[in-house]
Amino acid sequence: MSSILYRYGSRYYINMTNRCPCSCIFCVRDQTPTLGDADSLWLDREPTVQEVKDALLAADLSSSEEIVFCGYGEPTERFEDLKEIAAFIKNDLKKRVRLDTNGLGSLINGRDIVPELKGLVDSVSISLNAKDEEEYLHVTRSTFGLKSYKAVLEFIEECRATVNGVTVSVVGGYIPQESEDECARIAARMNVAFRVR
Ligand code: SF4
Repeated sequence: MSSILYRYGSRYYINMTNRCPCSCIFCVRDQTPTLGDADSLWLDREPTVQEVKDALLAADLSSSEEIVFCGYGEPTERFEDLKEIAAFIKNDLKKRVRLDTNGLGSLINGRDIVPELKGLVDSVSISLNAKDEEEYLHVTRSTFGLKSYKAVLEFIEECRATVNGVTVSVVGGYIPQESEDECARIAARMNVAFRVR
């Protein structure tokens, strides 16, 4: 059965879509159909906003320090629904909201979406993935092509000014160590947190 909400460690994660413009060489979707207590993160169909809200209301969220938009797809593919659910989590459930994203949401939606995150998302984790545009395209195979990397950098920069907690990440073992080190320097220059995941 498809899972639209799953627990992984100390948090609950929302799995709204399997759509994504990337096909990363490290994507966990290619390794296992499930994470945490999920049955399957492959969706038979995308859940409605109400179905996501109902799943949240049915879960015991008391020990979940935040609710994370993540799942087996890029959450900003459903940006309008994401905003509605994020507002519900903050206003009705009184929980913090984190967005895990590939940083391509503005390209996906055809407009700058970062200002719309203000007040709805408490922290953002963005996949930097690479030190430059060629390396980025090699590891993500983004359908947006070479312009993807610049879009991610702009997304990070804007999030830093809009959202309190911004973390950028790379997946360990898929780019050379010197690239990883350069990514850490890029994060430091942009004044955002960095982690290897
Ligand atoms: S952006 Fe995320 S969901 Fe999309 S292919 Fe890459 S790792 Fe997988």
